[in-house]
Amino acid sequence: MITAENKKKYYQALLEKNSEYDGVFFVGVKTTGVFCRPTCPARKPKIENCEFFENVQQALLASFRPCKRCQPLSHPKHVSKLIQTLVDAVEQNPEKRWKDKDFKELSVDSSTARRQFKKRFGMTFVAYARARRMGIAMKQIREGEAIIDAQLSTGYESDSGFRDAFARIMGAAPTKMKHDNIFKAAWLDTPLGPMIAIANNDALYLLEFVDRRGLEREIERLRKKTKAAIIPGYTHPIRSIEKELFQYFEGGLREFKTPIFFIGSSFQKNVWEELKKIPIGKTCSYSDLAAAIGKPSAIRAAASANGANQFAIIIPCHRVINANGELGGYGGGLSRKKWLIDHERKMIRPSK
Ligand SMILES: [Zn+2]
Repeated sequence: MITAENKKKYYQALLEKNSEYDGVFFVGVKTTGVFCRPTCPARKPKIENCEFFENVQQALLASFRPCKRCQPLSHPKHVSKLIQTLVDAVEQNPEKRWKDKDFKELSVDSSTARRQFKKRFGMTFVAYARARRMGIAMKQIREGEAIIDAQLSTGYESDSGFRDAFARIMGAAPTKMKHDNIFKAAWLDTPLGPMIAIANNDALYLLEFVDRRGLEREIERLRKKTKAAIIPGYTHPIRSIEKELFQYFEGGLREFKTPIFFIGSSFQKNVWEELKKIPIGKTCSYSDLAAAIGKPSAIRAAASANGANQFAIIIPCHRVINANGELGGYGGGLSRKKWLIDHERKMIRPSK
């Protein structure tokens, strides 16, 4: 998250078109929906309409699209035609999931595209397209709109693919709100990046980092299993977890009490229950985990159940590491896993 101090500094740099800040931050302009580099020649927005990001992915996930004037995706003074072609193609059809044949149709070599995107933005083109797609779908959730029905039926932003992207990820909006099984989804900002929480009135069903790989599939699965419609909004469990997360990040909360509901096989549920028993500030290995559920040989299955956890942070799958002390994997990214482990160690360290 950008501190208030940096926000001021960045805004000043933006007014000055200070090229030293090129690549240090990007600015999303709420009134136009585009994001720019600091040196953009366009008229500068008011500070209250600016949102600052440290990388392209954050800007995309927050539903901003790249500015056509300053082209925040290209190097200064150097526009790669390939990158521009692909970025334009994404804007024409943002909900598309890219396959090899799509690259062929544009006469683009997919491995070259992959390499160029990776080099410039630290993510592959497919990750770029996905971040933009998720950003559009998450837009309403992020803005906390209570009712999307009206906007959807009037084709709100239909040209930007919003409608399709939202429907693809959250399911079609319930017609006339007659649906009796409605889940709400909310966007929660945390020091480790935005998270999405999905819950009904009784329990939380999902808590994940918005940029987690496979999040779309997870949401899809949740929707199918619960046969629920998911629309933006808050329920009591979401307010509860929002408050608890805040306290956790402040270092004052060691145990989450928000009710959660597991969807999974009985084996998975056993693993998740076991994860809850790992004390804060401690780690264990995948084989410890398998042994703890009474299936010492099922290490891989235990690891995969660990990875299928739908409650980041609160079911502490980040506390499971490799037997040799290496971090192992983490759906939310290894730097987050390391951060969480360090944060929890600090929490239990006696003060003085
Ligand atoms: Zn611009």
